[in-house]
Amino acid sequence: MNRYFNLFTVAEGVWAAIVVPGSGALGNAAIIDLGDSTVVVDTFSLPQAAEFLRGAAEELTGNPVKYVINTHYHGDHHYGNQVFTDSQIISTDMTRDFLIKEGTPEAEVWQSGLQQVVTFLEKGRKAAKDSRLQTALTNEIADKAALLEAVPGIRRVTASLTFSDKMVVHGSARSITLLTFGGGHTESDAMVYIEDAGVLIAGDLVLSRTHPAMLSGNLDNWARIIERIGRELAFSKLIPGHGEVTDRSSLDEMLSYLTGIPEYVRQAAASGEPEEYWLARGVPAPFTEWEMSHMFDWNFRWLYQQFKQEFEVEQ
Ligand SMILES: [Zn+2]
Repeated sequence: MNRYFNLFTVAEGVWAAIVVPGSGALGNAAIIDLGDSTVVVDTFSLPQAAEFLRGAAEELTGNPVKYVINTHYHGDHHYGNQVFTDSQIISTDMTRDFLIKEGTPEAEVWQSGLQQVVTFLEKGRKAAKDSRLQTALTNEIADKAALLEAVPGIRRVTASLTFSDKMVVHGSARSITLLTFGGGHTESDAMVYIEDAGVLIAGDLVLSRTHPAMLSGNLDNWARIIERIGRELAFSKLIPGHGEVTDRSSLDEMLSYLTGIPEYVRQAAASGEPEEYWLARGVPAPFTEWEMSHMFDWNFRWLYQQFKQEFEVEQ
């Protein structure tokens, strides 16, 4: 029984695997039928969830998975790679380089790090007054606990094929374009564009009504990438790295978050009131109902410290 994700048909031969919050799978994935071959995009945070993804892909398309694409180097998009033993793994060359340089931590070190995160999150949940934040933290704790348990069995599998700007994968029924406009959410973020179906698989560059993790990103580049997606790619459906299947409207929502939240925090830092004062006010509109609201706290603290330092230098 698959408790990790739900499958949605997005277009003919294109399925989104949208994760169940708190199941440990964490990042969304997708399946594409090329006719005579099958592609999977991203592989979740857990190998056991990826097993179900591979099974679903084979069952839906009638073919083994020939290619697996990793959109970026965050673990919730590639820890399941090891399940796809007969597939070619594809990423940008920068994503591959990053993962090889980073290496795999020893299981014990990795687990003790995760245990510290869980303890920290549990403290946060106890202190949280808002029920949306409590739910987000409960899910995050469950996701991290599932990963902690899976760690001894996770083997890092990096790409066997890489590209720097663009790569086209051809099948008998359709061709798909893998492309990157550079780094925004991470140093290198790839997307999968299925032009004939009008679908974009955006990785974590575009989420649907979900707070993004800003901490490893470059916010100016990120905003520019989203504008470029809007200008250059024709699609009506978007499969996000987190959140439900959406459409082009998520481009503007994401853009307003990436520009609006830094501006909000800049004013907060300039106000002289401490971080806790501002965080107690909760998530500002229009992002109040977005999922994973604990990310907002992290984004806020990260930005607040940056702005505070800037103001101190100026004074
Ligand atoms: Zn992610």
